[in-house]
Amino acid sequence: MRPFIAGNWKMNHTPSSGKKFAEELVPRIKSLGADIVIFPPFVAIPSLYEVTKGTSLKIGAQDFYWEEKGAFTGEISAEMLKEAGAEYAIIGHSERRNIFGESDELVNLKLKTAVDSGLKPVLCIGEKLAERESGRTKDKIKFQLDAGLSGVSTEKVIIAYEPIWAIGTGKTATPQQAEEIHCFISEYLDERVKILYGGSVKPANAYQLMTQSHIDGVLVGGASLKIDSFYDIIRNGIKAFEEKN
Ligand code: PEP
Repeated sequence: MRPFIAGNWKMNHTPSSGKKFAEELVPRIKSLGADIVIFPPFVAIPSLYEVTKGTSLKIGAQDFYWEEKGAFTGEISAEMLKEAGAEYAIIGHSERRNIFGESDELVNLKLKTAVDSGLKPVLCIGEKLAERESGRTKDKIKFQLDAGLSGVSTEKVIIAYEPIWAIGTGKTATPQQAEEIHCFISEYLDERVKILYGGSVKPANAYQLMTQSHIDGVLVGGASLKIDSFYDIIRNGIKAFEEKN
């Protein structure tokens, strides 16, 4: 098994700075044993695709709308993203849920559209600090899995466990905390789905996290914006996987 290492750029990098990043990263990761995906802003997808087409660096979208086309001002469809070069899509990131009010029903519609259209979905789930502190982490995870995956075959879905209290805060879940929830998710789904951890992953903690047996990779926000830190996370992930395989 290879680690799956993804960078979520959020609202960072322009088409030109993103392209420059990809031009530098592609030769560095050429013969590495990892699946590597970058999720740039929509407008940077074509320029990244131009330099990554046919290479081992894959591109994804941070979101999309579930309808095929029509009067949905400001939205973008799965087909449009695929044509622009996206192979993956993040669905239900906590920032979409909490800042933009995305419901579990909407997340589910997006998952169905992704699977039907051939965009590989990365479903984000995770608990808030108050839910963890009151012992409701597993209930929340169960709820988000049931609601998000209702009517969807999990075969093609990647799950990203991202405790909200660890996103962009510098507070990472300990490898044991993350492993416990990853184990729970994989038992609950009763299938060997890929499960990524996300939440303040950095070069310094990536190795320990990825040595855990149920952590299949990482979804990285802030530390994916600079090429050296993203590259170090990739190398640390590969090292961890070589040791645990
Ligand atoms: C994310 O937004 O998916 C994320 C994990 O961010 P960060 O690594 O910055 O906590």
